[in-house]
Amino acid sequence: MSVSVKAILNEKGRNVITIASTASLLDAAKILHENKIGGTVILGPGDTIAGIFTERDLARAIAKDGPESLGNPVSAYMTSNVYACREDTTVDQLMEVMTTRRFRHAPVEHDGKLAGIISIGDVVKNHIRAIEMEAQEIKAYIAG
Ligand code: AMP
Repeated sequence: MSVSVKAILNEKGRNVITIASTASLLDAAKILHENKIGGTVILGPGDTIAGIFTERDLARAIAKDGPESLGNPVSAYMTSNVYACREDTTVDQLMEVMTTRRFRHAPVEHDGKLAGIISIGDVVKNHIRAIEMEAQEIKAYIAG
């Protein structure tokens, strides 16, 4: 059975690094670098999820608009139509969404508010652990 987002959050915590939509891309690059993360969330009124900005958006901005884009606001390049998962979303469901929609971050929404974030790294870590546990169970079964 697949583990839930809630189980992952209980282990890794619910803190999410956010950024103002008015911050510049240079500020965003610094935040991603300093926190060793690949994406940051933009909050709307009442801690709702208004957007997501990832290293992929940074690369696109520079490729499209040149180095001057580093002075432009995050709001000009963030994705506003965010897929957010819930605490009861399973890791299997997340893997499916991340693979088909080709993104590596899923903010978690609870009561309409941002309540955590799951990255593809969290999903892979969990998947490997599940495979290892299954292998151990099979070995124990064979050994009797
Ligand atoms: P990523 O692979 O997460 O770096 O993101 C690739 C692209 O998808 C970027 O344009 C992101 O802004 C966007 N993106 C990332 N996560 C999400 C998400 N949960 N919902 C919608 N778009 C996303």
